[in-house]
Amino acid sequence: MRILIAEDDLVSRRLLQSTLQKWGYQVVVANDGAQAWAILQTEDSPKLAILDWMMPGLDGPEVCRRLRNVTGGAYVYVILLTARTEKDDLITGMDAGADDYVTKPFYHHELKVRLRAGQRIIELHAQLLATQAAISEQARRDALTGLLNRGAIFDALKSEVSRATRERHSLSVVMADLDRFKQVNDTYGHMAGDMVLREAALRMASSVRPYDSVGRYGGEEFLLVLPGCDHASGISFAERIRLGIASQPFPPMGEDLPVTCSFGVASVGPEIGYFETDMLVKAADEALYRAKRDGRNRVESAQSEAAQLSIATKLISE
Ligand SMILES: [Mg+2]
Repeated sequence: MRILIAEDDLVSRRLLQSTLQKWGYQVVVANDGAQAWAILQTEDSPKLAILDWMMPGLDGPEVCRRLRNVTGGAYVYVILLTARTEKDDLITGMDAGADDYVTKPFYHHELKVRLRAGQRIIELHAQLLATQAAISEQARRDALTGLLNRGAIFDALKSEVSRATRERHSLSVVMADLDRFKQVNDTYGHMAGDMVLREAALRMASSVRPYDSVGRYGGEEFLLVLPGCDHASGISFAERIRLGIASQPFPPMGEDLPVTCSFGVASVGPEIGYFETDMLVKAADEALYRAKRDGRNRVESAQSEAAQLSIATKLISE
């Protein structure tokens, strides 16, 4: 475990350093408060710090205060090193955000015990952060398919649309809907329906690039967000996924009931223009509707509508 010590007094610093090293800690040394603060601001700074109270420039409590003003990230456990014993002073130190204190000259055994307590807090905090991250990730996922849920895929779409607009890039969205899905549920039961949804999700997710987003938009409806993808690429992308679904039988029905999917593709880009997320989804949805109407298991383009939309938007703004 790495530990930061900040102490302006050379003798005391050396003693502390060698003691900690003897106990197996890796020691990062600062000669004053400013140096300590600089180290604590680095990304991989030690999570355990022993700060001398009295230092020229920034004193221990001030470093503490600055540290506690930074929100988020891993917790840094701070032990103040003080020659003072007056209770008022100690309260000032704790108010500044210190976790504990050790009076100088320190007893080895006492310091060891306090460091151990600190280490435990740091570990607990790291576990807490990991759990929080796992929970918030879970909240973004669709429980059945593991894809992004409706809220999360919409968030992803919104941020990608604004990025594409800002950076003048292309972006395609693909709205996909499994064909005659009700038939699967009615004939084979809902368990089979769930298996089909999971398998379709898997095939979609495994055919996208790492920076694409795939979400379950509704029952058997999926939304894919493809940043940097112009309209022609968006269409061939959807075509690839369509084939990936239609060409391989789905367990558990196998050949008995082929699963297919219909697609609507809409894009924004320098050629087409840029417009709002809702309009983009609406355009993809309308194209999907045409794919359904014209026989299913096919990809339809919203290009014409998109172009019209763009012209209409331009006319309004002029
Ligand atoms: Mg000092």
